[in-house]
Amino acid sequence: MASLQSLRGMVDLLPGATALWQHVEGRAVEHFRRAAIQEIRTPLLEVTELFARGIGEATDVVGKEMYTFIDRGERSCTLRPEGTASVVRAVLQHGLLSQGPQRLWYGGPMFRYERPQAGRQRQFHQIGLELLGFAEPRADVEAIAVAWDLLADLGVGGLALELNSLGSPEDRAGYRQQLVAWLEQRRSQLDPESQARLQTNPLRVLDSKHPDTQALLAEAPSLLDSLCAASRERFEAVQAGLAALAIPVQLNPRLVRGLDYYSHTAFEITSDQLGAQATVCGGGRYDGLVQQLGGPATPAIGWAMGLERLVLLLSRSATAGLPSQPPPDLYVVSRGAEAEAQALPLARLCRRAGLVVEIDPSGAAFAKQFKRADRSGAAWAAVIGEDEASAGVVLLRELRPSGAEGSPAASADQRLSPEQVAARLAR
Ligand code: ATP
Ligand code: MG
Repeated sequence: MASLQSLRGMVDLLPGATALWQHVEGRAVEHFRRAAIQEIRTPLLEVTELFARGIGEATDVVGKEMYTFIDRGERSCTLRPEGTASVVRAVLQHGLLSQGPQRLWYGGPMFRYERPQAGRQRQFHQIGLELLGFAEPRADVEAIAVAWDLLADLGVGGLALELNSLGSPEDRAGYRQQLVAWLEQRRSQLDPESQARLQTNPLRVLDSKHPDTQALLAEAPSLLDSLCAASRERFEAVQAGLAALAIPVQLNPRLVRGLDYYSHTAFEITSDQLGAQATVCGGGRYDGLVQQLGGPATPAIGWAMGLERLVLLLSRSATAGLPSQPPPDLYVVSRGAEAEAQALPLARLCRRAGLVVEIDPSGAAFAKQFKRADRSGAAWAAVIGEDEASAGVVLLRELRPSGAEGSPAASADQRLSPEQVAARLAR
């Protein structure tokens, strides 16, 4: 029978990789904790309408990337392609806004039916931040700073923060008209995808990756020229706030979010080391979304970070060693029924004391078990043979002399009770 494989674009994280993931996730949790941002967990599966309304039919995500199916109750369901719509749904469903503004983060797998390549999968992972009920420019600055500081703390180099303002809904509508008129005159010079976007979602033409379209767009009217005085002032306040935190900014007037409920701040954090999939983190202000999903008018800003790209970046740019699972402190070698019966109680005692303990399960000859003990990288071996078992003791052997290089050779074997072993090693 042919062996079964994972689905295309659905990736296993093997044991050699999970320590780095845990490290990244652990740092993220810590940064959120320090910023007084609380975790929210929502289901992976939602009614399809949530994303149709919350992301928009005109986007690639809703138009062609969703995993949608009819369930046994004849409901149209979708595996979440992103986190924001679900978070807003949950906040509204449980009336959280009545308790005041919400500072929330989420994490977990997202699903998009895309063409898999490096840094682009069909199941991928995001962490994201949503500040709901915050209108002030300094909330934008704080949201961006949390992302920037997390990436800096992880040691990711070569990052750039690209920033733009989409202005108020009126600014944006005015610009849209201007842009459509400009693009219509040059329709034949656009790539086919941009020609289609010109009908459905014209602002998205601005972030076409097609080189000819990009060259053409260098001449296009700039969004920044369409901002009214108040929007301009707001944008300047965001830039001043970032400057005060010494976070460097590259203005990018072509950075857009496609949908009408986005306004003002839009940003991306990119890396020059990721090739075509350069964006690690994308976000912006979405003052219209909560209302779009049936809630009260609520200003909000958020971002999402792709963990695959972040991990890829760390493994490419890391100068020091990457986190990996540490070797066991103690490796338990035992042979003979009575001895083997004592291995697990010993391991348990030592694990309770906080030690990492691996038990050799083989019952093989001592020489073989010692070879494995050595390969495990453990600093110590606990040996239980028939003599030790009947005396209720353990032979503790140092496999790797601890301390500095050139320190004296391993200490001599010691016969200790299990309690003594735990106490000795836990020090
Ligand atoms: P892209 O332009 O790369 O498709 P996007 O605009 O679709 O990105 P967002 O919806 O803003 O991305 O998601 C935020 C982040 O999630 C991205 O910046 C990226 O790091 C990550 N991401 C998005 N789609 C994928 C995917 N298919 N595989 C891996 N990571 C992804
Ligand atoms: Mg995408």
